[in-house]
Amino acid sequence: MDKQEIRPGQARRSGLSTKCVHAGSPPDPGTGALVTPIFQSSTFTFRDSQHAMDVMSGREKGNVYTRHGNPTVRAVEDKVSELEGAGDSLAFSSGMAAISTALLALVRSGENIVAMESLYGGTFELLRDVLPRMGISVTLVDGTDVSAVERAIRSDTRVLYLESPANPTMRVVDIRRLSGLARARGVLTVVDSTFATPVNQQPLALGADVVAHSATKYLAGHSDLVAGTVSGSSEIVTVIRGFRKILGGVMDPHAAWLLLRGLKTLSVRVERQNRSATELAAFLKAHPAVDRVHYPGLTDHPDHEIAKSQMSGFGGMLSFEVKGGFAPASRFASSLRVAALAPSLGGVETLVTQPATTSHYWLSPAERAKAGISDGLVRVSVGLEDVEDLIQDFRTALSGIA
Ligand code: PLP
Repeated sequence: MDKQEIRPGQARRSGLSTKCVHAGSPPDPGTGALVTPIFQSSTFTFRDSQHAMDVMSGREKGNVYTRHGNPTVRAVEDKVSELEGAGDSLAFSSGMAAISTALLALVRSGENIVAMESLYGGTFELLRDVLPRMGISVTLVDGTDVSAVERAIRSDTRVLYLESPANPTMRVVDIRRLSGLARARGVLTVVDSTFATPVNQQPLALGADVVAHSATKYLAGHSDLVAGTVSGSSEIVTVIRGFRKILGGVMDPHAAWLLLRGLKTLSVRVERQNRSATELAAFLKAHPAVDRVHYPGLTDHPDHEIAKSQMSGFGGMLSFEVKGGFAPASRFASSLRVAALAPSLGGVETLVTQPATTSHYWLSPAERAKAGISDGLVRVSVGLEDVEDLIQDFRTALSGIA
């Protein structure tokens, strides 16, 4: 097919890898450049005042100011819409900007959010410390217990907030069932699908209303930028867009350009990371220094059947408990030579972190325990190195901890 024929909307008929490469970023109509240019401009010019009013009011298509929208950022949004099967998407300056702007747009003071208790630490802090100050109440519940979620939904609940697979416990929640019961009660379901990526999971097709990503991770894929996205119906995204314009957490055009480049290889990266994580999980499971491995692809993972029913791959993330707790886990993490000890995930380099020391540092020990995060838990983001080298690195590091 001629590349120029693939446009937002049309690319929906193509395969996911084709969408990664082409959707939203056709050759530049002005210059013919194959790669979408970086429109590194904060503002855009008008022919005259009437033109300004026509563009501001939406009567005429055009650009105004990069906080409102930008052609390079728009290309990211169109590509992500295609990948998620969404009516529209928005790009943000970080995953947290995406999540906080979406929740502020969808929930008012006096309303309630029901959220699962196993969540990325920053999201947990938003729900614990920030939203309650705005009169938004938050009920935390075990997202894997469908009847507990059902009981938690109240007449003032506006959003059910899920993260699947969850960071760092790798618990998987039943998006289809939970979003179905939320919808029946007039509640919107928002899913953070960062760990899964659109390659492995499509929450909107499962019934969710909004899907969010920390695009810092797999979507960008190279640990060189911070970004976020939300996708949903054009009606919901229009509401969130209004809030993004005011709150200001929009993606920078240069980050958008890097993200577009990363997105083109998303499917090949994730397919390889799925395979390597499966092999590394099997190695760790058989290792005598490891207590438990949390990877949804393992048949003894508590949510394996749900993962199989809603994911097309089990992802590049896993976590495991080192026997003996915090001290041996720390010795292991600092002995690695191929993998790096660093927070974040989803890039080409394998990264290892102890969530109690980084992503979930600001949770109290009791909150961490409730979220299923032990002091000996190690989280691994499997990169693109040869899996044999990773296994050898982990074997050597584990042999030195006893
Ligand atoms: N959601 C998940 C699952 C994450 O792991 C993270 C960051 O680690 C975020 C959201 C926040 O993303 P960002 O760091 O891009 O703001």
